[in-house]
Amino acid sequence: MGIRFTEEYPEVNGAFSMEVEKILFRGKSPFQTIEVIETKGFGRVLLIDDLVMLTERDEFVYHEMIAHVPLYVHPNPGSVLVIGGGDGGTVREIVKHPEVEKVILVDIDRMVSEVSMEYLPSVASKLLSEKVICQYEDGVAYVKNTAERFDVIIIDSTDPISVGEGLFTREFYRNCYNILNPDGLLVAQAESPAYMADIVQGISHKLHAVFPKVHFYQAHIPSYPSGHWLFAFASKQYHPLKDYREEKYHQHALKLKYYNSDLHFAAFALPNFVKEIVHVE
Ligand code: SAM
Repeated sequence: MGIRFTEEYPEVNGAFSMEVEKILFRGKSPFQTIEVIETKGFGRVLLIDDLVMLTERDEFVYHEMIAHVPLYVHPNPGSVLVIGGGDGGTVREIVKHPEVEKVILVDIDRMVSEVSMEYLPSVASKLLSEKVICQYEDGVAYVKNTAERFDVIIIDSTDPISVGEGLFTREFYRNCYNILNPDGLLVAQAESPAYMADIVQGISHKLHAVFPKVHFYQAHIPSYPSGHWLFAFASKQYHPLKDYREEKYHQHALKLKYYNSDLHFAAFALPNFVKEIVHVE
């Protein structure tokens, strides 16, 4: 057996391992360690601090689900803010929507985008779209200080450790609420209910403290811990199913690999143990 990359899952004393063909890039930014490896089974893989951020094999699941669910609920998502997401995968999906006029991407680490542009162009290339403005600064400070207002905010963050920690606080969610338009909504990657129930529960409590409507939806992402992943949907006004713009989805007729209108409904149907985790009295 050749070299392997192993991501440890300390929550369950487990791990996930891939055979590595080649290390394409390894560098340290002021914030984190960034690597791109070529693997046999998952194609190119972006790692930050030894955690899988995306793999070429299954990145479409995460990026389609984090982008199209909110964008097919908001009736006119002209302005979108992405916090994190420096690899460009979420932006690639957002700019498929003709209604979106402007996307501001705020990632703390410019190196993530530079490395993704070089080694993962199929994921990153839309960072160069004329609709997209990339700003490299702390998302926590950005949402506190900006005068911009948004229809949709997407939190495409790392885990709640290191520089990502501030993107999981009540104060951060409150500042996001404040910079959303009166009918704005937010979607955030919300970790694995199978392995990280405490984190998921924390996200649910904090979002409920700020937003009148909070729902969770799920997707299957093989290279993420447990493969069972959640996204939080927090909204001032719109309900993720009652206000779903199914006709717009059919009009656009985008060629997508995971998201479709049946799945939009199905993704919000949660297993009982997940309902218990996200339930707030
Ligand atoms: N899909 C991924 C996942 O769930 O593992 C997340 C991918 S994306 C690469 C995460 C990005 O969040 C990284 O590029 C990182 O630099 C960025 N990030 C972490 N903390 C941040 C902060 N405080 N402000 C803005 N961006 C941040």
